[in-house]
Amino acid sequence: MRRLMVAGNWKMNGTRSSVAELLKGLKSQGFSATVDVAIFPTFLHVSEAVEALREASIAVGAQDVATQTGPGALTGEVAASQLKDAGCSLVLVGHSERRQILSEAESVLVAKFKAAQEAGLIPVLCVGETLEDREAERTFDVVGAQLDSVMDALGVEAFSQAVIAYEPVWAIGTGLTATPEQAQEVHHAIRARLAARNAEVAQGVRLLYGGSVKAANAADLFRMPDIDGGLIGGAALNADEFGAICRAAGS
Ligand code: PEP
Repeated sequence: MRRLMVAGNWKMNGTRSSVAELLKGLKSQGFSATVDVAIFPTFLHVSEAVEALREASIAVGAQDVATQTGPGALTGEVAASQLKDAGCSLVLVGHSERRQILSEAESVLVAKFKAAQEAGLIPVLCVGETLEDREAERTFDVVGAQLDSVMDALGVEAFSQAVIAYEPVWAIGTGLTATPEQAQEVHHAIRARLAARNAEVAQGVRLLYGGSVKAANAADLFRMPDIDGGLIGGAALNADEFGAICRAAGS
């Protein structure tokens, strides 16, 4: 039985005062004991979040990680071991904004995935197709290739200590959400792709849906058999809305 997870990606948002306010709001939410809750603040706000949420059973992750596990000469980067030391337990890898806007290559994100695991962090691998891909009926090929990059390099077993987030690019920050059926279809295909290499790993891995999830549509998405929770962007910046999404996962 897979535990559900709801994770909030704060992206490049937050000031010292708004972050303090958001953390205070999160601590006042009632979360179900059956759901794992996590947030991904900017590097700047990781320590503050770890400190504030110590007693709150909310995990803290980072939005990115260096390609090498330990510290060293890599100006501007943050090592997986440093994130671990700061109290992070998770890290996003391959978010579409990094793949597209920052041209992050598959080889780079595979290295990040590996570095994260070497330091004891759980990578959350984000995969998803563009609108153009979907319209050209390339969704399964694109998402499959993104999964294969990691499996070919690190083995399917790498997913026994990882989470996958299916985030159709056309649904991120656009207000357009995949229908529960559209999302389920891709989640099922993702699990099947892993199962072709290792059925046990495929059954155990948590598959989150991301793309304009809000309290109003969360329950319908989370009800689908292969959707094990959500990766939430915009709605995670509002503690009450995020709390309601987490409660929808627990209901
Ligand atoms: C995201 O960026 O991971 C995301 C899902 O964003 P939003 O919920 O705002 O679409």
